Amino acid sequence: MTATGAIEGTPPAGLPERKGGIRLFGGPGRYHQGPGALDLIGEVAAAFGPAPLVVGDAHVMAMLRPRLEALLAGAGLRPAFRTLEGEITRPAIEALARGAETASVVVGVGGGKSLDAAKGVAMILHAPVITAPTIASNDSPTSAAVAIYDDDHVMIAVDRMAASPACVLVDTALIAAAPASFLRAGIGDAIAKKFEAEGCMAGAGLTPFGTRPLVTALAIADCAHATILRHAEAALAACEAREATPDLEHVVEAVVLMSGLGFENGGLSLAHSLTRGLVRARGARDAIHGAQVAWAVLVHMAAEGRGDDEILSLARFYRRIGLPVRLANLGMADPTETEIDEMARLTMTAPHLANFAVPLDRAAVAAAIRRAEALGASV
Ligand SMILES: [Zn+2]
Repeated sequence: MTATGAIEGTPPAGLPERKGGIRLFGGPGRYHQGPGALDLIGEVAAAFGPAPLVVGDAHVMAMLRPRLEALLAGAGLRPAFRTLEGEITRPAIEALARGAETASVVVGVGGGKSLDAAKGVAMILHAPVITAPTIASNDSPTSAAVAIYDDDHVMIAVDRMAASPACVLVDTALIAAAPASFLRAGIGDAIAKKFEAEGCMAGAGLTPFGTRPLVTALAIADCAHATILRHAEAALAACEAREATPDLEHVVEAVVLMSGLGFENGGLSLAHSLTRGLVRARGARDAIHGAQVAWAVLVHMAAEGRGDDEILSLARFYRRIGLPVRLANLGMADPTETEIDEMARLTMTAPHLANFAVPLDRAAVAAAIRRAEALGASV
């Protein structure tokens, strides 16, 4: 499985706080979640005008285009469809937007890349965007961030839409029918947000909006963490059984809604900074984003100086639900001292790192990686 890319926006860390101390809360205008939520697409899209532009990858189009066509036409709309081929590069997004200037709304359907492509098109067209995820591997559906790649699949920028998605449609029947590995990754990505937002608040961190974290965001991120601890095992079992149970609904809400609101209004920090090194690390580079972030949370906790018991408790939870506790679980068996130092060096280049509660240097990051690895080896 390949990394689906970083999802979150780059905070303007290191820059002065914008908006003169005025706090900001951003989130999607509407959020619908449940089995069959995609069936609302006609009604939802009609509110924006007669000509929706649907963007998705070839897999999604093969699976859902007839249903989407019927739903949109049934609402009296004239939809157009565009298929994302390959990587989300700036030329690819411009090609998707070409000739679509009259679109009333852009509808992204699929995984993170399809949704980000739709957001990129919406930015060019100055149109609102509706996101309809078919997997729950991260919180891209609710965020304003767009990860941009080059032709070599290396992420080169994270653009930010001027507004959050106007509407999010999370059809949990689709999520439950997708491989559980995607939901497991989404759990890893979501669980980080509590630790990152708390550190951001405790220090001088800024959110992707360039403003100070909100107490509201910390509460939401904390709720995501608690919801996952309580319901993740049952939710993953439900996903294996392809059933949208209440446990699965709770966890999808934590992964898509709470996680997105938590990081956009609470800030990212060391856990996401570590992905700078992980996306270039032997073996680990091919792990999905949420699995990388899950392991990185253990390092984040180690760097904060949390006690062994607390870190081991989360690691044991990871073990139960199949998330990584060591680099070996991410595909990087027996990391060398040089490899760990290089990971720490690349981590230091992440702007999110300035959101850690206290200043960190490369040696401190490397030491935290080694401590987390030692603890992970013991569970
Ligand atoms: Zn993430």
